[in-house]
Amino acid sequence: MSDFSDLYQDLILDHQKNPRNFGEMPEANHHADGYNPLCGDKLTLYLKLDDQGTIQDIHFKGSGCAISKASASMMTVALKGKKTVEAEKMFHEFHDMVMGKIDKAPEDLGKLKVFEGVKEYPARVKCASLAWHTMEAALHNEKDVVSTDDGKGSEA
Ligand code: ZN
Repeated sequence: MSDFSDLYQDLILDHQKNPRNFGEMPEANHHADGYNPLCGDKLTLYLKLDDQGTIQDIHFKGSGCAISKASASMMTVALKGKKTVEAEKMFHEFHDMVMGKIDKAPEDLGKLKVFEGVKEYPARVKCASLAWHTMEAALHNEKDVVSTDDGKGSEA
């Protein structure tokens, strides 16, 4: 398990201890709830979109492991000010990266590339991707709670 400690780089620990954009956002016009039953991670994701489809603000609240919290915090930093089409593109890139579907992490993920290491740990993939699945649901204002346990085994 020695490689696993590499995941807990300073960046992840920092965001886990001091999550950015944390807390409810009353002015949100999109939100969704996410749940990862395998680990117990729970979060609510808030978005404020303008008429041009730009993410003016994004917040989250919830509780979970270091990976889920750091991933949510770093995602909010990365997505603030982005267009929803860019957010969707980054969601797919991030997902492919943590699932190990691509050999090299896309450059435009920036600091989010730190999560590439979770591809070696299938149970942790769901922790890292929970915030992104919930963000995707919030974009579409889906009412049901997003669960990473979709009954399809290792698919995150
Ligand atoms: Zn977790």
